[in-house]
Amino acid sequence: MALEDTVVIPIDAETFQEKLGSSDPMAYMFLRVIAGRYRWALRRALDNQNINSSKTMMMGGMDTRYMRVRESAISRLRIEQDLQEAIEKDQFVVYYQPIVTMTTGVIAGFEALLRWNHPERGIIAPGEFVGVAEESGLIIPIGSWVIEKACEDLPRFQDVFNQNFLGQPELFMSVNVSPKQIDKLSKLDRLKAILDTHGTDPGNIKLEITEDLLVTSPELAVLALDKIKATGVELALDDFGTGYSSMSYLHRFPLDVLKIDRTFINAVNSEEKGLEIVQGIIGLARALRMQVVAEGVEDLETLNKIRHLDCDYLQGFFASKPWPLEAMLASLARHCRSRAKALAEQPMVG
Ligand code: C2E
Ligand code: CA
Ligand code: CA
Repeated sequence: MALEDTVVIPIDAETFQEKLGSSDPMAYMFLRVIAGRYRWALRRALDNQNINSSKTMMMGGMDTRYMRVRESAISRLRIEQDLQEAIEKDQFVVYYQPIVTMTTGVIAGFEALLRWNHPERGIIAPGEFVGVAEESGLIIPIGSWVIEKACEDLPRFQDVFNQNFLGQPELFMSVNVSPKQIDKLSKLDRLKAILDTHGTDPGNIKLEITEDLLVTSPELAVLALDKIKATGVELALDDFGTGYSSMSYLHRFPLDVLKIDRTFINAVNSEEKGLEIVQGIIGLARALRMQVVAEGVEDLETLNKIRHLDCDYLQGFFASKPWPLEAMLASLARHCRSRAKALAEQPMVG
């Protein structure tokens, strides 16, 4: 893709190989890496769209479908390059969304949610870039940074909370981790190093994993998760119900929390058996001695339907959207004052 006026000079493969062979070894390696990356991104994009690349090219090459794929490959490469720059230029931020105790309505902890503060596009949600970060491996440094930032910010939330709710369990912090990170975190004692640096009580940290980690290689997952659990942090199974994990082997993993995906929570309003299904999932979690979070609670109607089920926590826009640190600290202070007052007047809010 040309970014400015360009003259195209065709060079055949043979000439290119010849020039490459006689070039400086460093320049040779550099070009090989770039060409390899380009081919890899193109192949992935083709795979994703189920296109056989050589066949498409043989049949006349640059048809519109191929061009689309090529553009998507280039765009992925560009995002990857920009992500690398974003790491160097400190362009990531963490937003926080509260997780609320169902019976009291009091905030119990937060989930850290990554955002990219892009110099031209502003705040970008993770859905746009976490996939590329995972495929390229950049999720490892980015993810470690999120854990660090969450550990650094947690005491600020706890200070505000403790001014009103001293003696209550301390606020916890949930952080999303991708499968690639789990492997690294378990092997290098990286997690323990981060917790030690910030003096974080591991019991207040919950790492959120998704079902694909458990499905892809269950044996390795058990080993890695056991090692991570040994640091004292808790493990939560995120988006439960959207993956392909078999209920029959959930008990093999050292999981503490089950987060019911918002599609099930929304279904309590729209599907005939929606409520029974959520009740069933809660029953399963209880049988496995896991705590339960209802995700994506957006309105009072939904809350009223699920509040009498045996669910520990709720999370969703009804309680609060995710906000940056300072805004969330201010919101937590207001929340603590009003909940402390309400609970003092009516201790059995439920
Ligand atoms: P998630 O872990 O399931 O996080 C919850 C997502 O649902 C967040 O989107 C949140 O803003 C959104 N949400 C919360 N309440 C509601 C609600 O009531 N209604 C609706 N419609 N949405 C709600 P967000 O922040 O865009 O994050 C999307 C996903 O990106 C996350 O889903 C998580 O899988 C991933 N992600 C976020 N931060 C990180 C990170 O630091 N590392 C990794 N590996 N993945 C991350
Ligand atoms: Ca999550
Ligand atoms: Ca989730």
